[in-house]
Amino acid sequence: MKVDLSDIIRVNGASKELDFVEEPSDREPAEGCLLDGKLSFTGTLTNTNGILQLSGRLKAVYSSECYRCLGAVKKEMNLRISENFINSGEDEQPDMYPFEGKMLDISKALNDNIILNLPMKQLCSDDCKGLCASCGTNLNEMQCNCGDNDTDPRMEGLGKYFKK
Ligand SMILES: [Zn+2]
Ligand SMILES: [Zn+2]
Repeated sequence: MKVDLSDIIRVNGASKELDFVEEPSDREPAEGCLLDGKLSFTGTLTNTNGILQLSGRLKAVYSSECYRCLGAVKKEMNLRISENFINSGEDEQPDMYPFEGKMLDISKALNDNIILNLPMKQLCSDDCKGLCASCGTNLNEMQCNCGDNDTDPRMEGLGKYFKK
């Protein structure tokens, strides 16, 4: 996602409306997590004393695998974006992205926001029951019989001991 800066770069306070719908620069921002289709971004870019302030909303759909049941997970992200860019000729700022010339590529900043907001563990739903540890049945779809005779064999032995 590239922004032509020629009309705002020399004018303090000038801003530009942005409205992008584009293929993501990185289709797999995190392992096992794939972006589906296009990213959309709407917002503004404002030149404030030479620092470019980007603000807006990023929408993306991604698919992944539920870590409990291994089922497909498809979620939409709707992120508020607020990032600053500084000319690479200026002193580096830890919280700003450098830019050069008259074209600003905001793809990396957006991609970083996606990575930061991906949950560490994906769940198909908050109350996913997962897979049975003994037989592997997907407990969201059906109930298995393992729960009926889950007596720990060590406890059975103890029961006999107490009966004597
Ligand atoms: Zn699940
Ligand atoms: Zn089972």
